[in-house]
Amino acid sequence: MDSVSKYFSGLFTGIFSLLKGMSVTWKELWTPKVTQQYPENRDTLVISDRFRAELTMPHDENNEHACTACGICQMNCPNGTIVVTSQIIETEDGKKKKILDTHQWDLGMCTFCNLCVITCPSDAIKFENTFENAVFTRSKLVQKLNNEGSSLREKKKEVKPVEPKPVVEAKPVVEAPVTEAKPVVEKKVTEEVKPEEPKAEKE
Ligand code: SF4
Ligand code: SF4
Repeated sequence: MDSVSKYFSGLFTGIFSLLKGMSVTWKELWTPKVTQQYPENRDTLVISDRFRAELTMPHDENNEHACTACGICQMNCPNGTIVVTSQIIETEDGKKKKILDTHQWDLGMCTFCNLCVITCPSDAIKFENTFENAVFTRSKLVQKLNNEGSSLREKKKEVKPVEPKPVVEAKPVVEAPVTEAKPVVEKKVTEEVKPEEPKAEKE
């Protein structure tokens, strides 16, 4: 008897479980779909602001950025994704100043760890959520973040006109008075001719 009751209890439990699962399936069949139809929904697609897709260097309306070419982002990048090159300029007050030449970032190597952004002392770089970065060649993944012609404020002071040095008039060459050369008096060498001694006669 026990075995029969166990059989039916298991049977009803299974049917109940099946119906419960089917109810969930039935319910989900009528709920609004959440599948993103990309790229058809490109205009309405919502990507989280914190999604790290592309490293950028913001420029203001004067095409200026805040990077001081300190190289800290390059040093903190764990896999050599960033290469910063700089140049030395002379400011108006005659001081030497290092400014950014190129800030290069390789999307193909980046792990999007955000260390470069966190450690940048000037807040010069940040990640954007612009994720459509597919290209056909790897070389196009290497990007220069600073705009062409962009510069620091200091760079504007760089153009220090080189003042022409005053031309020093050449003094006329004072010719030394020509002194008449004294006639060279040749010394007459008179050789004294010694008289030959008479040779001794042979015996
Ligand atoms: S996010 Fe990480 S891996 Fe990418 S450039 Fe910055 S430090 Fe390097
Ligand atoms: S981006 Fe920031 S950390 Fe990197 S070189 Fe420029 S100022 Fe320095």
